[in-house]
Amino acid sequence: MTSKPNTVVGTLESRLFINGRWRNAENDKTFQVYNPATGEVLTSVSDASAADGRAALDAAASAQRQWARTAPRVRSEILRSAFDAVTARAEEFATLITLEMGKPLAEARAEVTYGAEYLRWFAEEAVRIGGRYTTAPDGRTRLLVHKRPVGPSLLITPWNFPLAMATRKIAPAIAAGCTMILKPAALTPLTSLLLTNVLADAGVPAGVLNVVPTSTAGAVVSGLMTDSRLRKLSFTGSTEVGRRLLADSATQVLRTSMELGGNAPFLVFEDADIDAAVEGALQAKLRNMGEACTAANRFLVQESVADEFTDKLTQRMAAMVVGPGMSAGTHIGPLIDEESRAKVHELVENAVRGGAVVRTGGSPVDGPGYFYRPTVLADVEPDARLLREEIFGPVAPVVRFATEDQAVAAANNTEYGLVAYVYTKDTGRTLRLLEEIESGMLGINVGVVSNPAAPFGGVKQSGLGREGGTEGIDEYLETRYAGLSDPYA
Ligand code: NAP
Repeated sequence: MTSKPNTVVGTLESRLFINGRWRNAENDKTFQVYNPATGEVLTSVSDASAADGRAALDAAASAQRQWARTAPRVRSEILRSAFDAVTARAEEFATLITLEMGKPLAEARAEVTYGAEYLRWFAEEAVRIGGRYTTAPDGRTRLLVHKRPVGPSLLITPWNFPLAMATRKIAPAIAAGCTMILKPAALTPLTSLLLTNVLADAGVPAGVLNVVPTSTAGAVVSGLMTDSRLRKLSFTGSTEVGRRLLADSATQVLRTSMELGGNAPFLVFEDADIDAAVEGALQAKLRNMGEACTAANRFLVQESVADEFTDKLTQRMAAMVVGPGMSAGTHIGPLIDEESRAKVHELVENAVRGGAVVRTGGSPVDGPGYFYRPTVLADVEPDARLLREEIFGPVAPVVRFATEDQAVAAANNTEYGLVAYVYTKDTGRTLRLLEEIESGMLGINVGVVSNPAAPFGGVKQSGLGREGGTEGIDEYLETRYAGLSDPYA
């Protein structure tokens, strides 16, 4: 079924963007984009083939040399005007995000603010690419260290933050002087297409940014990764696909940035402010309906405060309004598709079979769309699958611990290491956890850590590299050096 087109969707350019031009796929194919709140078709988008991918790389490779010579100030100003334009068109972006991805409009607006900030942040970083000139220890040679753009980059994004995941890659690539091909998620290409429009209007030259939505990611991407003109892959998505792409990157020895899955522990100690911990838990669990790599996946709570924390969390989760993201008052939108919802329910059923107690929720919502009730599970057994796998839904499993050592061991008992959250007022404990918990990011008495000014990324199988912060631009730069003879010789 196709719904009446929303005006933002109706006026959107939905073709491929290659070498500064909007064009159909070479075989004129399209694929459909759905609204997860209704299951209805929103619109159709051009479906890039492997040949279209190659055409995008032709454009990126041809534009690279000239783009690398562009003055940093010019690249900075382009990003700054894109920031202004996204901010001015925030409502259009938020509407598209909610329509194609499902999150409540208020959260989509927050994503626009967050996503736009990467454009402003890297506008500021573009003019601060440094180098150094030193004397070698023997006093004779001089060492000149400088940074150059890596070259044509392939940027692959997931569906859960359609704007922010794109700006977090595009902005540092532009700032560094790399040309690029963006392959957005097939479930949510519309926001990327509006962003492309904005960036082209902001002055990104032809060939620098090429965008190829596709329903055949494997074919398009493998065609690009075996081409020696491609020099970098920046991927955000699941660890499973990331592992495969890392193996494929070996063929051309590509630079890689991999932002992969998570299994965040959320630790509550007996000295914590429990009301603040519940507030943080709601943010860490329910932001994006739990469909975030940073979502709290396991609540580890010290025995003496476990009942109080679980009761208060249950009360708040049960009061959440589930409904379409476009409706005022909605706290929890739909999950992205039926397959994802079925997986969330399967994980809940597996935990319940193992002895977990459903304190609230525990089932899908009947009717159109892919809604799932906010769920709290108490007394979850240590071998439950949802303690090992990403839940990607509004489900909070609570597990008790007795000592700090047990808490740390449980927190680290995962192959993932993206983020962890701790609630405690004890400074000594905080510092011990900072050193002992194996994660790229730690929230200390806060439920959200994402910030464009901070280096976002994971350890262990959550990934390689960092996005944002002063580190983010380095992912798109090579360090080179020249040795110079002694000027006094
Ligand atoms: P996904 O299935 O791994 O897909 C991510 C992207 O990879 C999509 O664009 C997808 O295209 C593409 N892709 C899939 N198979 C591919 C293949 N064989 N070759 C090349 N590209 C391929 O992940 P997702 O379901 O979209 O996103 C959820 C995952 O992303 C979760 O695991 C989450 O934790 C992770 N994530 C991590 C971060 C972070 O910063 N660490 C941030 C957000 C999300 P299609 O859309 O066409 O399948």
